[in-house]
Amino acid sequence: MSLVIMFTLFIGAVSAEEISSDDSLLTDSVNSDLSQINIAVNFEYADDNSKITPTFGVADNSVISQDYNTSSKYYDVKFNSAVASDKINVSVSAPGYLTQYQLVDVNAKSPISFNLLASECYKLGHDVTARADSLLDFKNADEVLAITTAGVPKLNGKTSEAAIDGILNYATEYISYGRGNILMLRQTAVDPIDFCFVVKKGNDLNAAIFLNGNKKEVYLGTISEYMTTSQWNALFKAVGGENAFSFASLANGWNDGVTFDVLQEAAFHGHICEGTLGGYTITKALLQYYPPIKETGNGKQSPGDITSYKVLGIPGDSANDAVIFFLDATSGKTSYVGFNTTSTGATEKMIGFVRWNGQTNKGTIVVMEYDSDTNKQLFEKETGITGDGSLEQLKYNTWWINRIYKNPASLVKILIEKEGLNKEQYLYLVGVEDDDEDDEGHVINATNSHGLDYAYIQGLDLPNATRDNVILNKGSLTYEDFKGIGQKAASMAKDIYAKELGVKIHKDMPNLMVLTSAGYVMIKEQSTEGCWDGLFEELGSRLSRKTLLPDHKAIWTPLWFNFLLQQDDGSLMSIYMRYNEDGTFFIGDYNGSQVYNINITTLNNSALSGGISASAYPDGNYFSIQSISNAWSAKPAFDQIMSFLFHNHACPGVQPGFFIVDYIQENFPLNENQSYIYIANEQYCKDDSLEYILDVSPGLGNYLVQKLTSDEYKGADDLDEEGILIIWDSANNIGQAVSISYKWPSPDLSAYATSESKRAAQIQAFIDLYNGNPNPILTENYHTVAHGDSRWITQEQYQTILAGGEGSSLKYLRGLEDISKEDLLKSMQNNNPQQESNNTNTNMNTNTNTQSNSNVPSSSSVGSNNAQRSYSSVGTSSSTRPISDTSTSEDSPDDSSSESGESKSYEISKKPVTKSSNNNLIYSVVAVLIIGALFGVGYMRRKK
Ligand SMILES: [Zn+2]
Ligand SMILES: [Zn+2]
Repeated sequence: MSLVIMFTLFIGAVSAEEISSDDSLLTDSVNSDLSQINIAVNFEYADDNSKITPTFGVADNSVISQDYNTSSKYYDVKFNSAVASDKINVSVSAPGYLTQYQLVDVNAKSPISFNLLASECYKLGHDVTARADSLLDFKNADEVLAITTAGVPKLNGKTSEAAIDGILNYATEYISYGRGNILMLRQTAVDPIDFCFVVKKGNDLNAAIFLNGNKKEVYLGTISEYMTTSQWNALFKAVGGENAFSFASLANGWNDGVTFDVLQEAAFHGHICEGTLGGYTITKALLQYYPPIKETGNGKQSPGDITSYKVLGIPGDSANDAVIFFLDATSGKTSYVGFNTTSTGATEKMIGFVRWNGQTNKGTIVVMEYDSDTNKQLFEKETGITGDGSLEQLKYNTWWINRIYKNPASLVKILIEKEGLNKEQYLYLVGVEDDDEDDEGHVINATNSHGLDYAYIQGLDLPNATRDNVILNKGSLTYEDFKGIGQKAASMAKDIYAKELGVKIHKDMPNLMVLTSAGYVMIKEQSTEGCWDGLFEELGSRLSRKTLLPDHKAIWTPLWFNFLLQQDDGSLMSIYMRYNEDGTFFIGDYNGSQVYNINITTLNNSALSGGISASAYPDGNYFSIQSISNAWSAKPAFDQIMSFLFHNHACPGVQPGFFIVDYIQENFPLNENQSYIYIANEQYCKDDSLEYILDVSPGLGNYLVQKLTSDEYKGADDLDEEGILIIWDSANNIGQAVSISYKWPSPDLSAYATSESKRAAQIQAFIDLYNGNPNPILTENYHTVAHGDSRWITQEQYQTILAGGEGSSLKYLRGLEDISKEDLLKSMQNNNPQQESNNTNTNMNTNTNTQSNSNVPSSSSVGSNNAQRSYSSVGTSSSTRPISDTSTSEDSPDDSSSESGESKSYEISKKPVTKSSNNNLIYSVVAVLIIGALFGVGYMRRKK
């Protein structure tokens, strides 16, 4: 059909004005109507000429092939048939670079030149890396690590993932996703873009740190846990306490050889701490004794909202994040419930698990804890280290790391193990929004969730559960082996595309995407991120290009790759492969073909879609794959993609989170003394996007779940009360609490016949709505985000809300007197003396300590670190004090722990803000334990 003729074009050099990021049209001389043009592409960074393959487009036409001619150094681009006009609009795009267009005369002679300019974000990543290299000398280092917040944070209104591409392209020989030495610290859109580069050489560990998108380093020097206290203080002063601990804990953990799965979880959480490692060991022990049986949902959500465990926790202990992360038991899949239930006898070091089987309607319930005190004592005994600074915390991390791979189960205690949990008991714990019934048809009344209600669980008259004892032996696959697995999968996919579709895949194609469980799942107890490098080598696919999407899956699930080619006609040609432990691959097949279209047209045909699902996707992940693939094809922004991946699938339910977070950031922007705490009341998919991009989580202590019945959360005018947002003001020790509500849009889904296609259409509509683009099914009745029930609250009221508001946080909030901020402050001033003596909780503010001082915990307190980061501490003024205010000169003990002094002082002396010595910390910890205020906020990453 298409007539392929050769033609050549001449064109002058492209000047800077001719280049635009998006849509400008450039004119030049033209010639003839042939269908091959020769194009020379020069990248702004000359280095990239050999690294990046550009992709060519011709407006209103299809490019058939693009081949690089190594002798002439230009691309032979063949496109479909001749055009009526003698001018064609040619585009050149490349990851990290601004797309360029030229209107070229078809009669011009060869070659056309494009000089591509890098995007600002890409330049930032590239230039900062070049600077770090000049300071740290990558070439002579043993190993290099890069840590960055780039990704979700915005630069000029756009997400900043291109900065990561800049890092990776500059430092190709040293840093890659698959080597596990690029870590993306989770942040919000309004957080700064920071970078920390670390080189290891012999026993030295040195870092260059860049903050706030600046290309000039703010710190150059050691980041080793063996640094002196004055060195630590220099680091602390230069980058702030939170950053210092974040970067240093990741760098030292990496140096200790912690596996990538742990590093990745820590990057999600914000740092490596005892809770990270404790949560990891709890997970390992759980999988050893109570391995997963069946994934179940709650029956009311999309088919992807299933997990093998439901987790009951007390937000504030970092272990919560680890457990959720490794088990993929996210809140958005209704698999995490937790608020402050310490009044039931639970402690924040405990985590409960329900292994629920939705078919038998029976479950096993297990409660575990990691024994901080014992471990801490052992650490002190073995190492003789008893100090109380961040450096000791780093050394304590190292000590933990050295044990978690040997016998993880020995580090945790199993407190309760019962089986035969029935549906009513299960729903009592996790909550059920509407009346339900048990197997015999007895009604189970709707109930708010009770979370880790330890007294209730202890009192359950159930038989002891029988442990399994699954011990997996660690395999001996190397990085090269895993890379080889990725490479082999990619090369097989290329062959299939060529053979079945006649499509030649070249590197760096923006319309080819690989979705994979690599990086999350384990093969023979080994992490699988090495596969990413094989995929990259063969296809140029990377997360920072949105062309390699690692899907958050539980660690025991299979290693699979799904390749997706988006064609000009909108079809999404998919190939599924699973890697088997014996080294072979399963390749999905439907009606004799290994590649099949999974776009919305397929989804709208239930026989076809069901056939593909059953035949090509035997591992039960078709829903995750088709939903993310279809969402990806609508070009969502990076933060949305990250939310889908964290949730492990795309669904319309996840998307309100984007709008809610935007609403929160716009309506309640934080000042330096403020922080967000969110308590989910209606729990569904959007909780995962909200959590991910608002940078809150149970392990950070600022995301809680108290699911309410529908009677409670159903608001007026179809506005559902989604959750309570608290904007806590640590300077004044008060907060503003509001109920955030959401009203769903009413899309016109009449054109779609199946639930799958309806979902896909809604996902696309939400993406269009977010991007400000029109969408055919959403022409009216847009959604609404709102807030109401605003109350100014005291520390004590705040604590009550965090403890579930005496049964219902929302009811409690609404029952509070609505007084103005000024009146509340006035009344507090009047009551002040009394308050100080009564309210011990309030001042107990260790958060500060961990967060800004980062002199975290004394060694003894490390164990109780989380106890210190009590909820009460959230409330304390020092807890969220701006990091920049703090100083940690341990050289001058007087200043040194001003923060910790504040935080703890009250415990000891009831002085509001004083300097304190290390001893105070230890006492304060003890005091905290005695008081039993065991709630923690963890490190709240919040930077201005
Ligand atoms: Zn932590
Ligand atoms: Zn979902």
